[in-house]
Amino acid sequence: MDNNKKVKFGQNFLINKEIAKNIVKSCNFTENDNVVEIGPGEGILTDLLADKVKTLTIIEIDPFYLSYVEGKLFLNNNKLKKNDTAKFVNMDVLQFNFIELSKTLNSKLRLISNLPYEISSPIMAKFIKEKEAFLDFTLMFQKEFAERLLAQSDESARSAFSVIAEANFEIELLFNVFKENFNPQPKIDSSVIRMTPLDLNKFEDLKYSENIKWAANSPYFSYLVHQLFKLRRKKLRNSIYASFQGIPPDIKVKMYEDSNIDLDKRPQSLTLNEFIKIAIKYKDYLGLE
Ligand code: SAH
Repeated sequence: MDNNKKVKFGQNFLINKEIAKNIVKSCNFTENDNVVEIGPGEGILTDLLADKVKTLTIIEIDPFYLSYVEGKLFLNNNKLKKNDTAKFVNMDVLQFNFIELSKTLNSKLRLISNLPYEISSPIMAKFIKEKEAFLDFTLMFQKEFAERLLAQSDESARSAFSVIAEANFEIELLFNVFKENFNPQPKIDSSVIRMTPLDLNKFEDLKYSENIKWAANSPYFSYLVHQLFKLRRKKLRNSIYASFQGIPPDIKVKMYEDSNIDLDKRPQSLTLNEFIKIAIKYKDYLGLE
């Protein structure tokens, strides 16, 4: 195994069948589910789920592995052949339209993927944008990326990314996977997570759920959170001057005070609710939608 070789299309294949079984088992797929798998590679996951689901859409950028998996499934799996349940798409997943697929199937999608790591950030942005198409996501990420995704307020990995993810999804760590379970072996371990689009009906406070809904979809909210994290080591008292200079400093300070946000905090200590409160104050002041 050559660890220095650049791996094409992030092709680090899972080679531990027990782990593959645990990932698929955790999904509890049924014959009512319309499942999408991104990047099947040699099909270690695909093989375990293909005959359990209603439809399976496989999106793979590498034509070699797409036909490899197609061959493997049709040879190994009679049910698939009879019911014609699988669709094989040779495409960069970043170009794929999940909303359209969900409409065509008249159903929300369940997504499973050992993701190619170099598209982690853009694919998350895409999942956020198209989240209405999904019931849930079971995803393998690099461990560090998963930690950033899962970080709660006050944790050191908290970032703009965690806050924006929190406004969109419920995210749960299922388990970690050591790098020895892949070939070629990557430099770092992985984590399997489950993401579910946030159910806004669960909040009793209607105003709060309306606010989260706004934040989740607002490029303005995302910009504000990124701005506040730019000076992540500084207390808010010292960093709020740097951005949104159209708002006079004393008015900004008052907005934080009126929102009961402690100006001696650093951005990673703010809760999602606090980010939303301050974003709404800024937005109203600036007369934005
Ligand atoms: N799921 C397999 C393979 C993981 S490796 C396993 O667990 O072993 C990542 C896979 O994603 C590879 O098959 C790679 O060809 C594919 N891939 C990489 N970039 C992609 C993209 N942009 N769109 C779709 N598939 C991609």
